[in-house]
Amino acid sequence: MAVDSRGRRIDYLRISLTDRCNLRCVYCMPDEGVEWKPHDEILTFEEIERFAALAVEAGIGKIRLTGGEPLVRHGVVDHVRRLMAITGLEAVALTTNGTLLPRFAAPLAEAGLTRINISLDSLDPGTYERITRGGNLAEALAGLDAAFEAGFHPVKLNVVVVRSLDQDLLGFARMTLERPLHVRFIEYMPVGDAEDGAGCHGEGGGWTASDSVPSEEVLARLASEGAAAGLGELEPLAKDAAPGGWGPARYYRFPGAAGTLGVISPLSHHFCAECNRLRLTADGKLRPCLFSDEEIDVRAVLRQGTEDEVRAAIRSALEHKPEGHEMRVGTLRRMSQIGG
Ligand code: SAM
Ligand code: SF4
Repeated sequence: MAVDSRGRRIDYLRISLTDRCNLRCVYCMPDEGVEWKPHDEILTFEEIERFAALAVEAGIGKIRLTGGEPLVRHGVVDHVRRLMAITGLEAVALTTNGTLLPRFAAPLAEAGLTRINISLDSLDPGTYERITRGGNLAEALAGLDAAFEAGFHPVKLNVVVVRSLDQDLLGFARMTLERPLHVRFIEYMPVGDAEDGAGCHGEGGGWTASDSVPSEEVLARLASEGAAAGLGELEPLAKDAAPGGWGPARYYRFPGAAGTLGVISPLSHHFCAECNRLRLTADGKLRPCLFSDEEIDVRAVLRQGTEDEVRAAIRSALEHKPEGHEMRVGTLRRMSQIGG
């Protein structure tokens, strides 16, 4: 079992497979001028798999593949298959924008992928296109259908709530009525350099605190709009009734709904005391905390060092995991480079 210097159990590793993406969400990436990491700086699948096996040996039980968009990386299905073959690894999950799932959901299920989270921030085609700078809502919804058809369970939908985007939250709640879909509303976080154009205000002004909607406000809106629409009273779910998860979501449900609604509140409810994760960036930096730019270079060790040196790097990340974050505005890396 991996335990950090504050006594927290660390059993979850998020791996960013690429910094590239087929979308350009306004809160995540600038429109133009993104400098992709050169190929030789990106970890190979073989390097990731070697690292993953040593992380599992150190106590990691769950891995999530993210990005950028993990499904744009060629060979991802076989990578999942090889990760799932690591002895002691319980699960491999994927966070994706869903647009490539019509092609990949069935092969990923066959390769042993355990679960899927899809990020989708609006059910209005025009708003979706604006948020993603050119994305097609129908493709993302087809990806959601493909995840269900391939038999994934649970399927979760992540919605970043941004005030100036004026999203229809009740529309998402309605999606949980018939299908066992778990929609989670996430507070918009100040990750990335506010100067580089990855932000919602005027698509160039960066993150602003007023654009981040606290989860309690989301819940109040869902409760009142749901009651007015005849969906009944929004009920909190006990931990054992909530869909299994690896993170800090709190779950609710409208009476009789097949799915649930959740909130993830990194800003309004810091959950650092329960933080269970490490992150590996696509260019091989081990990041103990999303909000701290302190990183350990495991690429160099994977390329030139010994297995024992990789083990020492993992121990160092556990030692350096901060107790909490100050949530200062901006990090050196964008979310697409860290993996969310
Ligand atoms: N491309 C994949 C996707 O969109 O699901 C995986 C990578 S994306 C960086 C991972 C998650 O981070 C997505 O759910 C995305 O909405 C979220 N995200 C990106 N920037 C964010 C921000 N500033 N605040 C909160 N969530 C953010
Ligand atoms: Fe791409 Fe995901 Fe970032 Fe959107 S949130 S730009 S889909 S990496």
